[in-house]
Amino acid sequence: MKKRLLLFILFTLLSIGNGCQVRSAHFEGQRALKHVQALCELGPRPAGQEANRKAAEYIGNTLQRYGWSVEKQSFIYSREALQNVIAKRGKGPLVVIGTHFDTRPIADRDPTDRSRPILGANDGGSGTAVLLELARVLDESVFQNIEVWLVFFDGEDRGDLGGWAWCVGSQHFVASLRRRPEYALIVDMVGDQDQRIYYEWSSTLWLQEKVWRIANELGYSKHFIPRYRYRIIDDHTSFLTMGIPAAVIIDFDYPYWHTLQDTPDKISPQSLQRIGDVLEYLLEKEPLGASGN
Ligand SMILES: [Zn+2]
Repeated sequence: MKKRLLLFILFTLLSIGNGCQVRSAHFEGQRALKHVQALCELGPRPAGQEANRKAAEYIGNTLQRYGWSVEKQSFIYSREALQNVIAKRGKGPLVVIGTHFDTRPIADRDPTDRSRPILGANDGGSGTAVLLELARVLDESVFQNIEVWLVFFDGEDRGDLGGWAWCVGSQHFVASLRRRPEYALIVDMVGDQDQRIYYEWSSTLWLQEKVWRIANELGYSKHFIPRYRYRIIDDHTSFLTMGIPAAVIIDFDYPYWHTLQDTPDKISPQSLQRIGDVLEYLLEKEPLGASGN
């Protein structure tokens, strides 16, 4: 009798223990905000500079800690050494989720001082933070169905300065691709308080429809508005020019864009949360196929 009771207790404890192990993590906006703050503590992070390399290290170390295999893709552009950080996991059709981690070297839209670099809490910080937190929480089952690459592009934001093009990191990345991704979804400038994300004119329609429908199902229809607003050059453009379906999730109505006021206090953890929830749902529930399929 005593022995049975002990066994029962032991079994119960084991079950509880197991329960804890299988309970999967979910995206936390507050944790993503911590990444924004940590990146901004490095200072402005323009392509080719020391703080940029430190950001790449921070990204790589975080991803490795979360169990991803990490590659640094180094290349030279305009005599500067740049690097994309690529995290890979899973097996199956390839899905790319991307963002840029570099920041604009000059605050060329600042109303008072256009001589200094921006901190890039939203522009460079928010997308990076969302992808890092996503890397922590994605369910193991995702990696049985698809291969996910989280790609952190360098050199997106030095366009039109000193003869630089926009999106040089993603251009280098797509030119060296040896596999064709099913699609690439780019995240940029998603952290502001007043979050409203519209369709973008050049993005692949079925991919936008799918992402916006998921957002709607999650109750985020006030923030994901399925109407066109801007045409934007961002890292999705590099994929589109190669004929790869691609879309950008961006809230371009951000008054601090390319100014010295793009600082962590402008970032809302709830906004990061919504983007994380949408991406987590997409990859865990229906990573492949057009909307409604
Ligand atoms: Zn920018």
